[in-house]
Amino acid sequence: MSEYCDTSLIYLQSVNKNVAKTLIEKNHYTHKWTLCTIAYGIYYKDYIESSFFGGYNSKLIGVLVYGQSVGRSAGTSISPLLNNDNVMELTRLWIEDGYGKNIESYCIAESFRLLNVDFPNIKCVLSYADNEVGHAGTIYQATGFLYQGDIYVDLAKMPNYSISLNGPPNYDWIHSRSVYSRWKTHSVDKLKERLASARQGILADQETAVKRITICNTCDQLTSLRNCRKCGCFVDAKTKLLDTSCPLNKW
Ligand code: SF4
Repeated sequence: MSEYCDTSLIYLQSVNKNVAKTLIEKNHYTHKWTLCTIAYGIYYKDYIESSFFGGYNSKLIGVLVYGQSVGRSAGTSISPLLNNDNVMELTRLWIEDGYGKNIESYCIAESFRLLNVDFPNIKCVLSYADNEVGHAGTIYQATGFLYQGDIYVDLAKMPNYSISLNGPPNYDWIHSRSVYSRWKTHSVDKLKERLASARQGILADQETAVKRITICNTCDQLTSLRNCRKCGCFVDAKTKLLDTSCPLNKW
């Protein structure tokens, strides 16, 4: 096999979300599923050697997942002329190793072509590189993405960030949606102010938090993304907060 991928053997087409979810949970570095509007499977044409019959088997070797961008300023962070209906987020990309160097950039470009047909209202694609695990968005930039900067400087640009109320090694991550729902801000400075003044009264004691999460873990309202169908909150964060309650009065 050549050093670079043979693009004549690669093609993309939409794939069932459950198939995409299984691949991501098994292979993506986060091992976590996410919001998904459409998933594109990445297929490899595995040609059958035969003197009588031609043809190939299609082997699913990766997946690209796109979801609605949930950051309130996702569109306007790029241009005041865009709103969130014009923006899609590339939320997950995984491709099996061994199919050549440029396969990621080729597949991202191919997915843009498909998105253009499937969602003509989309004018812009956003993605976030996780620099906590050494990702710098190099592949995305090679595909034509414009680098918007470090979101840790401007959290409001990143819809799926988490903050921790504890430092290392006992991180206590709270998802961005829970952050906004609780403190009504994404501004780092305002968060610092509010946490500093309210920290004493924020967290439930550990015994209470454990009792609550044990109830949530057996509740039929808990989704696979670990948020509650009734209130929408992410229960791992919600159960740790002092003045919260279950919408079904289970705790
Ligand atoms: S908060 Fe209440 S309703 Fe929601 S998952 Fe937990 S126990 Fe179930």
